[in-house]
Amino acid sequence: MLVHYFVAFFLLSAIHLNVYALKSYSQYQLWRLNVTNNEQVAKLHDFSRIAYQQNINFWSERFRKNIPIDVSIAPESINSFAKFLSSDDMKIQYDVIMKDIGAVIERQKLIDKLQPSSVYADDFAYDKYHPINEIDAWIDKMVQTYPTLATSFTVGKSYEKREMKGLKISSNKTAVKLDGTPVNEKKAVWWDGGIHAREWISPATVIYIVHALLSNYSKNPIITHFVDQFDYYILPVFNVDGYAYTWTNDRLWRKTRSKTSDPNCFGADPNRNWDYHWCEGGATHDPCDEIYCGSKPFSEIETAQVAKFIGTHNSTLVHYINFHSYSQLWMTPWGYTTKKPVQFKLQDDGSAKAVQALRAVFGTEYVHGNIGATIYVASGNTVDWTSGTANITFSYAVELRDTGEYGFLLPEDQIVPSGKETLAGELALLKYIEGKVYA
Ligand SMILES: [Zn+2]
Repeated sequence: MLVHYFVAFFLLSAIHLNVYALKSYSQYQLWRLNVTNNEQVAKLHDFSRIAYQQNINFWSERFRKNIPIDVSIAPESINSFAKFLSSDDMKIQYDVIMKDIGAVIERQKLIDKLQPSSVYADDFAYDKYHPINEIDAWIDKMVQTYPTLATSFTVGKSYEKREMKGLKISSNKTAVKLDGTPVNEKKAVWWDGGIHAREWISPATVIYIVHALLSNYSKNPIITHFVDQFDYYILPVFNVDGYAYTWTNDRLWRKTRSKTSDPNCFGADPNRNWDYHWCEGGATHDPCDEIYCGSKPFSEIETAQVAKFIGTHNSTLVHYINFHSYSQLWMTPWGYTTKKPVQFKLQDDGSAKAVQALRAVFGTEYVHGNIGATIYVASGNTVDWTSGTANITFSYAVELRDTGEYGFLLPEDQIVPSGKETLAGELALLKYIEGKVYA
């Protein structure tokens, strides 16, 4: 069975390579810039908005002094960018952390094919990345395997008419208050992965956690407790068109795939497209930019539909996580400003619990805080809206592994460790939230 799976996988992949031309990143380099003062940060941030014109792409969204900033550079821009960094104006030092991004992508594809799965259950390899059709089939399999807990739902169709397919976990037990008395209404949780297409570890981690909840229900008392205490709505891949595109055309695509006012540039940043202080800062009206906010709030059908779904469920939703990678951050609103919301301490104390429990598993260090102060201002982002408009107090933006050794190209052997530690962090956060909403 396992052997057949991999033979089939290998053949399909071979066919797949013939049909599509995946964008080549041969000789592209990843540099790590070491910025030491705020003037350099500001100048670099300004430059990041025009960098695409030279095929220079900022992998980091975090612009702070003394925190490394990772940038990919096309071969033709390597000399000019080096000159720019060493100019009297900038004087920014850097290290080359990947000499050839294309070679890293190719090597990983080969390892992925040759390395058999060691975590194979219910017809699914939990230590592998999967294309969108396999993730959709996995949802069906979960519903079939765990019929008393799992159902599927859809939030609608994407721009390219793909189903935005989700999974709901709900047991028939009544939730209880901390003193054991039943509550009137069970509260709900929303998790999504893959809002940014290239951040493959985020769908993979969400899938791992969902399977852990389903397969350990009635076996592990902690998991059983939290499955009984909340309903869970999970959208493993938010940006389905972008995610599909990373498998067929461009491994490092970030945005949606909608047409824009510029015939050469596609997609908006779905994490800058929400109708809450939309496009005020840390987002642009330039459709060719990676942080293009879209032609209007909710111009992207994917964000509009998730917002609509949440709007019809927000009487029960108390907790939202928007999973990203990379940088290892557990963040709370606001993103549109560096100011903190009035409930910041209530939210961030939950992050502290999550980060502490996460670290206890493998020692992985996460930083927590408000988005504006932790990375940079990013307006129109998801959790500002879920918190500010939908009133989901416990709204978090989580940046998963790593801190830049592989960045978006995180190897598959880190999927299960990321799943395990993130689950531990999330269970600690659920315990914290339970104490607040069922007090
Ligand atoms: Zn992201």
